[in-house]
Amino acid sequence: MKAWRLFLTSILCVVSIQGPLLQAASTVANGRVSVRTVETGIPSAVFEWQESELFKEEGIYGFECQSPIPFTGLSVGWLCTDANNIDPGAFTLAIRARSDEEPCEKWVVTRGEVRPDENLAGLFWSALYIPPDCNTRTQFEVRLRPPEEVRISFARISVADTSSGLLVTQSFEKEVEEDTMVTEEPLRPPIITRSEWWGDLPPEELYSPRWWPPTYRDITHSIIHHTVTYNNPPNPAQVVRSIWHYHANDNGWGDIGYNFLVDQYGNIYQGRYNEYLDTQDVHAAHAGTYNYQSLGIAFIGQFHPSWPDPPAGDPDVRALESTEELLAWKFAQRSLDPLEQATLVDKYIYRIAGHRDVSATACPGDNLYSLLPGVRTNVDGLISGGFPSPPMLISPADGSHQNCRITFEWSSVSGATMYRIFLKPPGRPIWVSDETAATTYEYSPTVIGAYCWKVQAYGDGRWSEDSEEWCWYLDGLYVGMRDACDHSITQAEYNLWVTFGKPACWWGPCHCRGDSNDDCQLNAVDVLALRGCWPGLGGSYDPCCDTNYDGVINAVDVLALRGAWPGLGGAGCLGIPCCE
Ligand SMILES: [Zn+2]
Repeated sequence: MKAWRLFLTSILCVVSIQGPLLQAASTVANGRVSVRTVETGIPSAVFEWQESELFKEEGIYGFECQSPIPFTGLSVGWLCTDANNIDPGAFTLAIRARSDEEPCEKWVVTRGEVRPDENLAGLFWSALYIPPDCNTRTQFEVRLRPPEEVRISFARISVADTSSGLLVTQSFEKEVEEDTMVTEEPLRPPIITRSEWWGDLPPEELYSPRWWPPTYRDITHSIIHHTVTYNNPPNPAQVVRSIWHYHANDNGWGDIGYNFLVDQYGNIYQGRYNEYLDTQDVHAAHAGTYNYQSLGIAFIGQFHPSWPDPPAGDPDVRALESTEELLAWKFAQRSLDPLEQATLVDKYIYRIAGHRDVSATACPGDNLYSLLPGVRTNVDGLISGGFPSPPMLISPADGSHQNCRITFEWSSVSGATMYRIFLKPPGRPIWVSDETAATTYEYSPTVIGAYCWKVQAYGDGRWSEDSEEWCWYLDGLYVGMRDACDHSITQAEYNLWVTFGKPACWWGPCHCRGDSNDDCQLNAVDVLALRGCWPGLGGSYDPCCDTNYDGVINAVDVLALRGAWPGLGGAGCLGIPCCE
């Protein structure tokens, strides 16, 4: 559908024969290779070596060329014997490039990434090489070491100059129009469109992938990648263009493989062509058969610590946040739960998965893969828009609570259908929980000490964040209102005295049955006080002396008090758990 103009020329390359992979050439031989410059809007050139033109020493093939065009990216393709049975990662490459007159730079050690059956060119392909400073180069050196006994039968080196076009050096402003700020659904985040990052490429490249029309699908998953290029490139838009060239022209995928790419500033780039970006998803080329119904998002950079080159980094928080916004927009549009797992082709994986979850690859690198649980949670939070909100706690307040029961109460959350109460009793490090559709909950504490509680609301398939946490202290289980010494209190009306906000080590006043002076001891003072309450001894009835609350002060109370008196061998406080 697009006529490429091919300029077939012949250029003299120095084909080097050298020793160890990373050493300079020990001997060189001159060989002629064919070089095409290809017009795709991006200046590019292709160097090709047939089998008879390849030189090998100590198992390593060497290539060293002056390019007819300056270039900002380079990839290596090859064929070999027994190609079907070899993992591309079994090939090791070392690549370096330089400008005229400049000294040689550091070798970048990389590996094969793409299998022959994964691309229309039918070749193995190296990872894309991009100079760390994004500047142009004019010469390159490549060393290719196949596995032992494997013979290279054809080689191609492709270079391209993607330096012209959009320059990105910062986050693009994220402006949200005022009237769209209040919305139920997450908005589409700002996206740098193809026409913005492509610069002056021909329109036919901009508006359609080559060789096949776009296939629109409803996504069920998203697969996260890293681009295995340098972290924090000076111009990430240029890296996007280089990846486009590598995927579309070298790999023969007709277009860039990813649906979206994200740079270190949090800028999102539209990847594969999609005429209906706002409403449709398009089948891309990023994870083999798992492309189907999955959205491929690539973080620009290298995030796998055990790979030598380019040096591994950590994803920028701005890249993570933008990706979460992008996923929230897409997942809300497709009504997908970002926290759940589901089947993609033959894999049962999280809907937000890493490339390694479907293919034998380290992509997107340990440093990014380990962050995906947090990404899922944050996407869920963005979709819910904070719904349901956590309830506000209302009661109980300080004071007495009758019948040994405390009633918790919280605010009703609009739209919530269920609440979950968490309670942490004294001395227990774990939360116990219960659920109710009401907005109150009755609880009977049995142990003196510090309690904490909190509530979540449930609605629209998810639990809210926790409410604030309330802690309170159960001072004592005692009979009656100690201060009032209310004659009408009966033994059935055990009350609880609750104090909020006290630290767990705080001890309240003693309300110990029989302890007439609240000094936390049972002793002769209390026996004398009891006598003063005993009408039989001329005193007047006082319920505070009525140890068994039978309405009379008599020998039973004296015996009870004596039995509890530690000085007489008793346990103290008549078995009421206070003054501990
Ligand atoms: Zn990947």
